[in-house]
Amino acid sequence: MHELTLAEIARGLADKSFSSEELTGALLARVKQLDPQINSFISVTEELALGQARAADARRAAGENGALLGAPIAHKDLFCTLGVRTSCGSKMLDNFKAPYDATVVAKLAEAGMVTLGKTNMDEFAMGSANESSHYGAVKNPWNLEHVPGGSSGGSAAAVAARLLPATTGTDTGGSIRQPAALTNLTGLKPTYGRVSRWGMIAYASSLDQGGPLARTAEDCALLLQGMAGFDAKDSTSIDEPVPDYSASLGGSLQGLRIGLPKEYFGAGLDPRIAELVQASVKELEKLGAVVKEISLPNMQHAIPAYYVIAPAEASSNLSRFDGVRFGYRCEEPKDLTDLYKRSRGEGFGTEVQRRIMVGTYALSAGYYDAYYVKAQQIRRLIKNDFMSAFEDVDLILGPTTPNPAWKLGAKSSDPVAAYLEDVYTITANLAGLPGLSMPAGFVDGLPVGVQLLAPYFQEGRLLNVAHRYQQVTDWHTRAPNGF
Ligand code: GLN
Repeated sequence: MHELTLAEIARGLADKSFSSEELTGALLARVKQLDPQINSFISVTEELALGQARAADARRAAGENGALLGAPIAHKDLFCTLGVRTSCGSKMLDNFKAPYDATVVAKLAEAGMVTLGKTNMDEFAMGSANESSHYGAVKNPWNLEHVPGGSSGGSAAAVAARLLPATTGTDTGGSIRQPAALTNLTGLKPTYGRVSRWGMIAYASSLDQGGPLARTAEDCALLLQGMAGFDAKDSTSIDEPVPDYSASLGGSLQGLRIGLPKEYFGAGLDPRIAELVQASVKELEKLGAVVKEISLPNMQHAIPAYYVIAPAEASSNLSRFDGVRFGYRCEEPKDLTDLYKRSRGEGFGTEVQRRIMVGTYALSAGYYDAYYVKAQQIRRLIKNDFMSAFEDVDLILGPTTPNPAWKLGAKSSDPVAAYLEDVYTITANLAGLPGLSMPAGFVDGLPVGVQLLAPYFQEGRLLNVAHRYQQVTDWHTRAPNGF
């Protein structure tokens, strides 16, 4: 049963080939058996899952038939889950049991999804390798000596290893698309405001967005349907009707105008990835798309701007973890200052502390204009680049990452080397645009992703293009050895 996609599971549950309880039991056994190799779960919620599965079977017996009813899910461990540890990958929140469900968790539970557990992640979602978790690094199922990408690395590795068909992730600078690319999955970062952030522990509030990770675009459509929608509890949620994403699959690509930004194919890109990206373009041309070169001239400023804005927002968001209001508290503090210092010093890992320092510095009086305001100006230029590009094209295509998955530890002593891996993904977050990564081949046995970007609220277009591509290619069907 572990080989089934979410869509296949929906059909199997609907025609009663198996019950949710049987499926849940089988997947939980698989998690127990295989996860020790990859470390993709922080918590497995066996009792909760079996209870939800029985409830889903009862709802189905009573005549309900939603596509997600009884299907399995696991949440990145920054989505608050009532009564379940929600650690954010940090010692700081190791003992935090959320007193409520995040909107995403509540919506998927109402749709009848069964929560198998909470997935591993980079501490506070800061990272591209999933090596900074308090609960240990996650391994890439395609090669256990390599990273799975981050920060939603646990969510990606679990699906890639066929422990379950789909998971939730969040994407602040690429953390859905990048691990999807590195583990041969389809991952979608929705338009900022499309999916509620309520109950999602904040990293950089103006960039964070939750979304689905799965093997196929068809599955991402099903999951996004359950996650998307206006939420009065999130002041940045946007009150736009949610289209039927599954219905948008299968539309013709005849005449679809695809732009290839020349800046995406310059120095730094592994030439073998460039070749695979070009091959994917050929496939889309065969389906009727027309391709032209475009330019996003301010892209070169994206990494410096992002690595000012994200830490600045993080330094503010993470100030609540002080050992008093939230989070870990040190043993026997001498006085209040000692309590703050040691609680934060012992509770946060190195990368989180680095970002808090950078962010606090960038926001400090005297430097604010030089760094933070400057970065915000660049952010606007990047958005403007996209707006003018989308006057001529319907979709932008390029590589998701410059390199395939690297070896564990290879970049951990050089943060800037890791930051550079985000070069193609962070612009979508700075502009708030939706983006998708889909499997497009292999380099040295490691998966490669192609990224698609679309105008605001065109998630349906991204899913349709990826779905049509997946109908004529089989990269997304390949499974790692041993899983
Ligand atoms: N790698 C980026 C960072 O470290 C993006 C992380 C994310 O999207 N959560 O900030």
